[in-house]
Amino acid sequence: MKLIDKIYINGEFVKPHGTELFDLISPSTQQLLGKVTLGDETDTRNAIAAAKEAFKSFSRTSKAERISYLEKMYAAVLKRKKELIDVMVEEYGGTVLFSTASFQNTIDSISVNIEVLKNFNFDKKVGNSTVVLNPVGVVGIITPWNASNGFICGKLSTAIAAGCTAVIKPSEMSAMQTQLIAECLDEVGLPKGVFNIVNGLGSVVGAEITRNADIAKISFTGSTVVGKTIARDGAETIKRITLELGGKSANILMEDADLHVAIPQSLGLAFMNSGQACIAATRLLVPESRLEEVKTIIKDSISHIKVGDPRDETSHIGPMVSKKQYERVQNYIKIGIEEGASLLTGGPGHPEGLENGNFVKPTVFVNVTNDMRIAREEIFGPVLSVITYKTLDEAIEIANDTAYGLSAYVQGQDEKKAYEIALRLESGRVAINGFKHEPLAPFGGVKQSGIGREFGEYGLEEYLETKTVLI
Ligand code: NAD
Repeated sequence: MKLIDKIYINGEFVKPHGTELFDLISPSTQQLLGKVTLGDETDTRNAIAAAKEAFKSFSRTSKAERISYLEKMYAAVLKRKKELIDVMVEEYGGTVLFSTASFQNTIDSISVNIEVLKNFNFDKKVGNSTVVLNPVGVVGIITPWNASNGFICGKLSTAIAAGCTAVIKPSEMSAMQTQLIAECLDEVGLPKGVFNIVNGLGSVVGAEITRNADIAKISFTGSTVVGKTIARDGAETIKRITLELGGKSANILMEDADLHVAIPQSLGLAFMNSGQACIAATRLLVPESRLEEVKTIIKDSISHIKVGDPRDETSHIGPMVSKKQYERVQNYIKIGIEEGASLLTGGPGHPEGLENGNFVKPTVFVNVTNDMRIAREEIFGPVLSVITYKTLDEAIEIANDTAYGLSAYVQGQDEKKAYEIALRLESGRVAINGFKHEPLAPFGGVKQSGIGREFGEYGLEEYLETKTVLI
């Protein structure tokens, strides 16, 4: 059993002031993996003070110095690839397949900041003035448990590129992953206080970061509910905020889609990270005329999707991160049945032989209407709603009829038409015929999926303040 009893403040692993322990439970077996000591408000304030002090000089480092730190960060994380993947699998039940892809995104999120920084101008002439982009200050980084290290590395490397310092509050459920990444970051040799990591609860450490006047900006990834709290709490000190929140992404199958390609792809998009992905394509919009074909191909395709031990390289879907999340997903399956949707595959309970972990049957509902809760609320599990449409205009209307707007998908052979649909979708990102993540392109949501963008130049600008100097 692992005991994680240190946090990282001012360049050192230190014992937290807080003493409360949090159990880390294996999602695959329900066995106790370890315990983490939770930091408290005092720890958080100490971390903020260290970051504030470090900002005085780090904000004035040259581009070359920051690039050199980012190169060292890249190398330090890459060196521990295997351990980082293994701990994702063990701690939150991400499959080896997904965790390996997620590790690649983590590494890319660092290298992309090196590329962006090389070509980025921190000042430019506008008429008779010079516009200067300065680092915003101490950044509070608050991350969720899914792909936790990817978010930490993406946000921290952007902060470093901008010349900011940071206090990181990872999810308490990802303490083992955090410990490893903290060890990698410790090797980089950043000046003391540039990054600080405080394990702890959102209501304690997260709330202190959000309310503390010495934090200039919050970069948050997590649920829309918590995002709203952060926006409210941060407003008191007019914090800059970037919120990457939840989603209920539509996936429009066009009339001309090759269903033998599009359906397996759609299931992959719906069930990525075992359905625990903010960008999961959880509403499949199907032309009414092709529903019967779609149902047949879904049934066939789903029989090739394996739910199982996340360490097994042939598993596509692993367990839900926690018992609580398992129960939440089960409850939504019950709600779907009560609302009158029909189960095409899956349903309540564990898949056979997987009763010990938080495993869920990949579940597809048909006869879903867009006003049902299963079509409106983020479930965060392998549950797909199939909704029919008669015309493309109606499909677009259904796709946009949601509080969210993080990601959307269009599949069909006429890519020109697909692009026209993409332009009409209210979404921060639209992927046509599947996608490969582009780390240089901005990522973020519209409506209640968030504020601001991450990655590439757009992401860097979020960590900068604009100053006009007139001579
Ligand atoms: P969550 O919102 O419960 O927690 C996220 C983080 O916020 C955790 O570190 C938590 O401790 C902290 N927190 C909780 N209450 C807080 C408070 N009052 N003040 C400050 N911080 C607080 O989310 P989760 O369950 O860890 O992750 C799943 C959610 O994250 C889903 O809704 C998912 O859609 C979203 N998500 C979004 C993206 C994206 O890029 N848009 C990516 C991954 C996950």
